[in-house]
Amino acid sequence: MHLVLPEAAWQQLLDEFARQRPGVERIAFLDGYRRDEVSVVTTVVVPDATCEPGYYTVTADQMSEAGAHFRKYGMQRLAQVHTHGDGRLGHSDRDDKMAYSQREGALSLVLPEHAARRPRPSEGLLHVRTIDGWNALDPAEAEVAITVVPSFVDFRRTPWTTSRHATKRPWAAAWHRLTSAARSLSRSSSRRK
Ligand SMILES: [Zn+2]
Repeated sequence: MHLVLPEAAWQQLLDEFARQRPGVERIAFLDGYRRDEVSVVTTVVVPDATCEPGYYTVTADQMSEAGAHFRKYGMQRLAQVHTHGDGRLGHSDRDDKMAYSQREGALSLVLPEHAARRPRPSEGLLHVRTIDGWNALDPAEAEVAITVVPSFVDFRRTPWTTSRHATKRPWAAAWHRLTSAARSLSRSSSRRK
């Protein structure tokens, strides 16, 4: 079991977690494709969950809504990520029961402090569903289980925007805005007289 997680997907998950009422748990799913032992995340899904300071609830209807795209794209759910308010990251009994799947190999990552400090996946506690329940992995096992890969790699040494051509244009646009603002200002002040 090995989860490949694009950096852009992780950043988007953190962005969406940040766009939520402070002090309550956050929950999202990581979807994508699995071949043999390797799963590749392509998509972050945030369900319309009820989020409270100590727990979250995803109803059956909200869960099926959050999986409505599976068939169309041949996609599957690979992991869930949710937050706790402090640094205690173990699954509660409720977390065990409410997990998106009880199939062997299902993954559940718990992040500290409602992810407010934009943690890396390795700062969370990764749980895996085994035949006898949910178990937290030790850091070495978790390190192997999730690999964050870059989403963008850029080797260009002279970006177009630093060329003389490009820098001239914003100046021209700024000058145009300034002069038309001055014109409309003088028009409105002459109207007031
Ligand atoms: Zn929890």
